[in-house]
Amino acid sequence: MAIVTFAVLPRGKLRCSECAAVVNAADVQVTSMSREEGETNPDDESATFSTTCPSCSRAGVLTLGYGPAASEEDLDALSALGESAQALRAKARRGP
Ligand SMILES: [Zn+2]
Repeated sequence: MAIVTFAVLPRGKLRCSECAAVVNAADVQVTSMSREEGETNPDDESATFSTTCPSCSRAGVLTLGYGPAASEEDLDALSALGESAQALRAKARRGP
């Protein structure tokens, strides 16, 4: 079974690959997040979120860029993910 992914649309909207619902990033539940630091290329920074579609309840994955090369759509979605993303980011920074 193909993994569910979320396509990033303008103004903080996401589209589920499973049910094709267009949802607000703010309504998507984030269960975990990992960051890619782009050690060799600082333009390469991205964050991968484990998410749950609010429409079909399937688990999925959302990858957003947030470095200097991030698109406007990515940044809109990232800010729409809001406090949960911020909290996860802070947790990831604490590290071992
Ligand atoms: Zn869905």
